[in-house]
Amino acid sequence: VRPWIVVAVLVLLAFAVWLYSSRLRGTAERECPGATVDRVFQPRAVPKTLRGARVMLNPGHGLTRGDDHTWRFQRPEPGEDGAYILEDDSNLLLARVVAKVLTDAGATVLSTRDLERSTPGSSGEPAWRESARDNLRRRAAPERVWNSSGRSLRGDCAVGQDLRARALYANDVRADVLVSLHSNAGVPWNRGTQVFYGTRSYLNPATSSAPNACLAQLLADAVPKAIRAARPDLRWGAGEVKPSNQYGENGYAMMPAVILEVGFHTNAVDGKALGEDSFRRAVASGVRDALERFFSSGQTCS
Ligand SMILES: [Zn+2]
Repeated sequence: VRPWIVVAVLVLLAFAVWLYSSRLRGTAERECPGATVDRVFQPRAVPKTLRGARVMLNPGHGLTRGDDHTWRFQRPEPGEDGAYILEDDSNLLLARVVAKVLTDAGATVLSTRDLERSTPGSSGEPAWRESARDNLRRRAAPERVWNSSGRSLRGDCAVGQDLRARALYANDVRADVLVSLHSNAGVPWNRGTQVFYGTRSYLNPATSSAPNACLAQLLADAVPKAIRAARPDLRWGAGEVKPSNQYGENGYAMMPAVILEVGFHTNAVDGKALGEDSFRRAVASGVRDALERFFSSGQTCS
């Protein structure tokens, strides 16, 4: 065999592998045009109690009007990719219950997606099913919030703008804390609660991340504890705290921010529980307990 044939075959093989993996990755990430991200934030005095605190709830995902102007959910529908529920909807249905429990505790609760189920949206579906970007545009929030410049996510500029919009809106309305509500995806046997926090603010790297870590730990303790108390049948395990700077919902926030991954929608037990009211009420009381400790400890956990 002539050496040039070996080289040609290797080059062709490498090209085929590259082509296949780029298909799997989807469109490459790119810089997207839009309004300049606002770095100005005027925090309020840190509240000493949950009563009177401004809590921004951020139910993840939702129907998004993509770059090609078609509306799509961001996460798989039940039965696709091992999902037992549609995360886009269930995050919002959980947020409604959390909002009620926090409001009853005296907090001022705000949300990046409409919590009212009767508000009409722009897609033909009600507003609650739509993404934060689409909700905030419809609510006439400042364009710098929902039409920001920055990197695309999974090749779609609208999805990147949707993620940034959540934290930028919390900054804009001077929330005291930003709690993003999600469910997790993994292999079928992955279960339980994980809480992600950022160790570095994208917009103000000088900010201490200690309050993020504190809030993450409080939620990782209180939420599984509340689930175990209300639903011993689920045999819910201990919560996990995960530092990561990959998540814009945390990274663009200029107040303490965490992502609460309540359970795994790709697990049969967690997935079924995520759709149940008794489970949502337990999660909500855990969130309330964690926030009460967060504010009463002066955001230090001490
Ligand atoms: Zn999610």
